[in-house]
Amino acid sequence: TTANTPSEIERAEARTAHNYHPLPVVLAHGEGAWMTDVDGRRFLDLLAGYSALNFGHSHPRLVATAHAQLDKLTLTSRAFVHDAFADFCAALGDLCGKDLVLPMNTGAEAVETAIKVSRKWGYEVKGVPADRARIVVASGNFHGRTTTIVGFSDDPDARDGFGPFAPGFDMVPYGDSAALAAAITPDTVAVLIEPIQGEGGVIIPPDGYLRDVRAICTNENVLFAADEIQAGLGRTGRTFACDHEGVVPDLYVLGKALGGGIVPVSAVVGDKDVLGVLKPGQHGSTFGGNPLACAVGSEVVEMLATGEFQDRATTLGQVLRERLDALVGNGVVAVRSRGLWAGLDIDPALGTGRQVCERLMERGVLAKDTHGSTIRLAPPLVITEEDLHWGVDQLAAVLT
Ligand code: PLP
Repeated sequence: TTANTPSEIERAEARTAHNYHPLPVVLAHGEGAWMTDVDGRRFLDLLAGYSALNFGHSHPRLVATAHAQLDKLTLTSRAFVHDAFADFCAALGDLCGKDLVLPMNTGAEAVETAIKVSRKWGYEVKGVPADRARIVVASGNFHGRTTTIVGFSDDPDARDGFGPFAPGFDMVPYGDSAALAAAITPDTVAVLIEPIQGEGGVIIPPDGYLRDVRAICTNENVLFAADEIQAGLGRTGRTFACDHEGVVPDLYVLGKALGGGIVPVSAVVGDKDVLGVLKPGQHGSTFGGNPLACAVGSEVVEMLATGEFQDRATTLGQVLRERLDALVGNGVVAVRSRGLWAGLDIDPALGTGRQVCERLMERGVLAKDTHGSTIRLAPPLVITEEDLHWGVDQLAAVLT
């Protein structure tokens, strides 16, 4: 580290709320799977913006699309229609096999939107008495940071000190479909779950769980809202994590990679009988569905439609899994992965996940711990096999 770096970090620390504890690196440039800091040091990005950078940094197609749109039109608000809107909604709706798209900006906003839509559907279509709607969620969930959302988290860091919270949520153990079935009441309007829990540590539910959730929701006339914000859009080797069980939820909740790592773009995608409950004036967002977001989002959908990135995630995911399995017993206690997405529990004797990430940084690899001794690896899907091997080599080195 040179003299330049700490001063930049100190300046940031002095003038921002300390709601993050970033690794001490100051980045200035990114291309593909690599980032460069202010001193010219290169780092392999194994976090990919928590999956927002599935296509890597500065993907030429996405950058060109963004540049072209910047020169034309960037914001209209939804008070008017713009010429990139219909194409985006149609493309994303088709990718999901659904009628309608409701664009928002951040993941948390999309989750809030899914909650609002589910409740309105519950009152207007299912016939739940006013203000009685309930939504079933899972233990260990992460759906964002708004007050309503943290109110149904079981992570004390996420919740404590932020109440009072919105009522209407019932928590069941993640992966336990019998518990989920038992939690459904006549007032239940939706089940909101992550098909794989990312922030939880890449927790993959037992085989058949998503199929069970689908069947329970169908039988009980309850909406299945799948939060695919981190798991979806190619990361797991399929377009959606639900695809691995051949399951189609009623609502896809999408974000992160939908904006190509360039702009925040999120969306709730569903059929007319569900999203159709919203009427003018009942929901909205100044920036949701803006021209720049739609242009980039359409390009993202086009890139996903070829299946190329999903195939990369599958192939490279096998490479990653083989390499990580070989580390079990050598500093790694357990590995979970699907596609190019892995959670590894580090032997606590070797230090915290944070300390391992600091050592990785010294070797030119950027990764992020989640929950104590778990490290999540989510390389950009454009990473080369050679670079992936190099990254795991660095991991193996810091664990021995
Ligand atoms: N849902 C899931 C599954 C996530 O992983 C995240 C972010 O990590 C969110 C929602 C919240 O997204 P955002 O940070 O864009 O609000």
